[in-house]
Amino acid sequence: MSRRSSRPRRTAAPALTALSPCPCGLPAAYGACCGRYHTGEEAAPTAEALMRSRYSAFVTGDAEYLLRTWHPATRPAELELDPGMRWSGLEIDGATEGTPFHSTGTVTFRARYRHHGQRGALHERSTFARVDGAWVYVDGTFLD
Ligand SMILES: [Zn+2]
Repeated sequence: MSRRSSRPRRTAAPALTALSPCPCGLPAAYGACCGRYHTGEEAAPTAEALMRSRYSAFVTGDAEYLLRTWHPATRPAELELDPGMRWSGLEIDGATEGTPFHSTGTVTFRARYRHHGQRGALHERSTFARVDGAWVYVDGTFLD
């Protein structure tokens, strides 16, 4: 049996297809939910949708999307995602403004994770703003 050329090593992030359940927790397929924002096909219409899509980008390891949806004033020069981090669930606690009729908004959420097997949760209120019509992440305050 001949060996096939070796494929690139699979990264630590779980493989997600357009039909996989979306990691953001909404009852939708990834491709029809956060995936269409990740590909750039569409822009998230609300701060909450952007928040969910950024969470999903952490799950899929899409640092490029995270930087692209970060406010230019607060965006880091580069972003290296911790490969020991496994995001395991998102709950939105509340949101203020952030609709298509606003230019700023906040989203309060809890994101559960395992870091090298250790369970934890991030409780944060994130601030979002619109730049050239598109929602971007500005900064966040830890609540716990
Ligand atoms: Zn989603």
